Amino acid sequence: MSIQQLGFLAFEVTDLVAWAGFAERILGMGVTRTGAGLELRMDGHARRFFLTEGPRDDLTAMGWQMADDAALDALVERLRAEGCDVTEADPAERGVRRLVRFRDPARNPNEAYIGPTMGAAPFESALVPSGFVADGLGLGHLALRAKNRAESLRFYAEVVGFRLSDHIVCEVYGHPVSVSFLHTNARHHTLALGEGLPKRLHHFMIEARSIDDVGHAYDRVIRSDVTLQNTLGRHPNDRMLSFYADTPSGFQFEFGCGGRLVDDDTWEPMTHGCTSEWGHHPPGMLRPRKPR
Ligand code: FE
Repeated sequence: MSIQQLGFLAFEVTDLVAWAGFAERILGMGVTRTGAGLELRMDGHARRFFLTEGPRDDLTAMGWQMADDAALDALVERLRAEGCDVTEADPAERGVRRLVRFRDPARNPNEAYIGPTMGAAPFESALVPSGFVADGLGLGHLALRAKNRAESLRFYAEVVGFRLSDHIVCEVYGHPVSVSFLHTNARHHTLALGEGLPKRLHHFMIEARSIDDVGHAYDRVIRSDVTLQNTLGRHPNDRMLSFYADTPSGFQFEFGCGGRLVDDDTWEPMTHGCTSEWGHHPPGMLRPRKPR
């Protein structure tokens, strides 16, 4: 009865034109202009990202795909039992069969739905020829603001139905980091919760099937005016090899490959003492050296 996958993300952005170019030429996604804004594709689903114009430059919805009416009804029941306000919304807005809206304890906007629209054929990216690891595993993952991490963790695990993957507690360049990771399918994590974030969304992650496609995306960022935030590196928990850079809205994207899959029968949550086994340095650390 749990969520199948992260089906879509919706952002309100100040610059739709910048986003269209960025999604197409940096991320390698398919871009469709609609009356409401932009829709982005990356796999068999007809729509993975919804972008509308507005001042917020932040997340306006996370879309959780449920298997069927019974699973969606059961989620609504659990949410209402928690005192959560759940409203039915117009499913046409997301191209789905049924859609509900609710908020988490930090007031982050959630949507749950059944019956996504699939594309006539899977999207093939010219810039990411190996393709994205998405489809049944969802579009990727997101790192979300929690006002109180314990409270959000309880909500997403006990009410929404995520399973705990692990935690990372450490210091990175003098800043304390404390993040909890949750999964809802075999992808190591679909949702990460952290406190003290300036926006609802810290980053979303998309995963290519080949390391070369990550390298080419890294080159596209370095050759463009997109701001690189973290160099290539490997995370200890999901084993993702990735880099981080800014989207046109200021929140970041992570572009990676090689993410680990988890098996609930044998998975044991633990706490890691670093965010990266190697790499993920801020590029400002790469000081020019004096010539010898
Ligand atoms: Fe991430």
